[in-house]
Amino acid sequence: MKQLGDYIRNIADFPQPGIQFKDITPLVRQPDMLRQVTRQLVEPFRQKDITAVAGMEARGFIFGTLCALELDVGFVPLRKPGKLPYDVQSIAYQLEYGTAELEIHNDALAHGDRVLLVDDLIATGGTARASCELIRQLGAEVAGIAFVIELDSLKGREQLRDYEVHSLLHY
Ligand code: AMP
Repeated sequence: MKQLGDYIRNIADFPQPGIQFKDITPLVRQPDMLRQVTRQLVEPFRQKDITAVAGMEARGFIFGTLCALELDVGFVPLRKPGKLPYDVQSIAYQLEYGTAELEIHNDALAHGDRVLLVDDLIATGGTARASCELIRQLGAEVAGIAFVIELDSLKGREQLRDYEVHSLLHY
């Protein structure tokens, strides 16, 4: 029987030399595996009174929306700057080279919300950590974080010590 790892394609030197890019497009093409992954992502959080799932642009939108439906809650997009049309809260954060920024609609979450954050992959953990800060700036709580893939050697999990982190596949 095929396993999750069989549907993750490694692309060497993309988008720049030295990066081993984990391509999830074969996975999202396969409905049975996609359903299985969705269930596994939310499994530890089913009894955690999650009120919303948040996901980062762009692959976090795919898995995050599926997880939201699985938990019967709504989805909140965290987007790159200038994409969200209404009033936003922003956060800038450090990348390996340079900086990046994420935004959330001001009214997307509020005090009392318990959020599951979802992305396809954790590398250094900077994106996830900034996302957690954005969610908390709106008064909501990060009740858990789920990734399809974790790159263990980059130790991104250390950036997320305050949270329950769940990953399906480790490289
Ligand atoms: P980081 O902030 O370093 O944890 O990077 C995580 C974000 O960058 C996620 O949204 C990933 O989709 C993307 N990313 C980083 N490294 C890779 C990789 N090797 N393959 C695919 N996506 C990656």
